[in-house]
Amino acid sequence: MFCDNMIVENSLDELKKREAAYKIIKDNIESKGEDPLYDLTGLSGGFLASGDELNLLQTYIGPAIFEDKIQEIGKKHMGGEKICPLNRTSSGILATILALVKKGDNVVHFLKSHPAHPSIIRACDLVGANYSEYIDLDEFNIPQNTSLVIITGSTMDHQVLDEESFKIIINAAHERNIPVFVDDASGARLRTAIFNQKPACDLGADLAITSTDKLMKGPRGGLMAGREDLINKVKAKSNEFGLEAQAPIILAMINALEDYDPENLRASISKRDELFDLLDKSYNMFETTPTGVMVSKESLTEEVKSKTDDCNLSLTDLSFLWSMILLKEEHIITIPAVSMPGASVTIRFDLSANDSDKLEISEIFNRIDKSFKTLIKVCADEDTSRKIIYNEE
Ligand SMILES: *Cc1c(COP(=O)(O)O)cnc(C)c1O
Repeated sequence: MFCDNMIVENSLDELKKREAAYKIIKDNIESKGEDPLYDLTGLSGGFLASGDELNLLQTYIGPAIFEDKIQEIGKKHMGGEKICPLNRTSSGILATILALVKKGDNVVHFLKSHPAHPSIIRACDLVGANYSEYIDLDEFNIPQNTSLVIITGSTMDHQVLDEESFKIIINAAHERNIPVFVDDASGARLRTAIFNQKPACDLGADLAITSTDKLMKGPRGGLMAGREDLINKVKAKSNEFGLEAQAPIILAMINALEDYDPENLRASISKRDELFDLLDKSYNMFETTPTGVMVSKESLTEEVKSKTDDCNLSLTDLSFLWSMILLKEEHIITIPAVSMPGASVTIRFDLSANDSDKLEISEIFNRIDKSFKTLIKVCADEDTSRKIIYNEE
């Protein structure tokens, strides 16, 4: 089961896998088949904009108006003194670490559970900082020479940190005059809409960033808020390296923030419970998330092991394989098929996603069930598995 000879081994392989998934998506759209694709990732990549607004983009007036508007509406969503829109959350994380952390400094990160987003670790590596990561408050400590404390509000797998832990970490950092940066990619909405928590800046964070395509209808982008002095440093750094959001993205962020309604997220909870009850009768591997269900790579492997002795794939390959079967055979898009290198391979079905309304819950169950049975059949054969993951004939 734990095999060294992996199918998806590195970032280049992940790119190849993502391009294979895009080809399947494109072929489905172009074939206009009777069964369309259902995007249950919970990432929308939406672009809400009127013709008038698009025309404004062609002048210098538009970007000036959108820059001003994002300040107002961004602060309403995130709190803080000033807003900085960035190309991605990963770009904002990189700009922050480049701006605030020097070679040899310590960076300490607290989150509900592993894994952390890879951009944090990669950015620390790039500047030559020492990075440490904690999920247990009793073990958490801030060493000498720490220049940044990071908290993840909600992980890639939607594991949400409680407000009490937030406050303890923020206090510990502030006693030492160390700024706190919150990676609230999905948390800015999950924590507030579902768990009734406050925006990170209202909890005392000095900087916080959210992904505008997660659990809202925005474009992929990073919306950062926080203390004006720190935002200015991050913004200058983002401009130096071209990490900032361009005007079209800012326009779509504004419209998505205006459109955002936390009620829509809360409405997904009952659908989640209905799907989970169905799945839980046949499988041990499912867990709930705030707005859907998920299967970690460990639980997936356990479930596969209980059904066959004949699978030699690694934990991550098994997740990629299932995600590609879901896409190709059942037309359901989950993150591992289309994800960026190093992202979590947990398979999530998000019921706050727009497309979840297009399928009955029993139909979502049937598709998941069918794809898993296919997975059990094909995972014994590494060659076939490889062909499915890379969509080769
Ligand atoms: C999605 C996510 C990111 C990165 O967002 P990108 O848009 O891919 O840059 C960072 N941190 C967490 C916790 C995330 O869930």
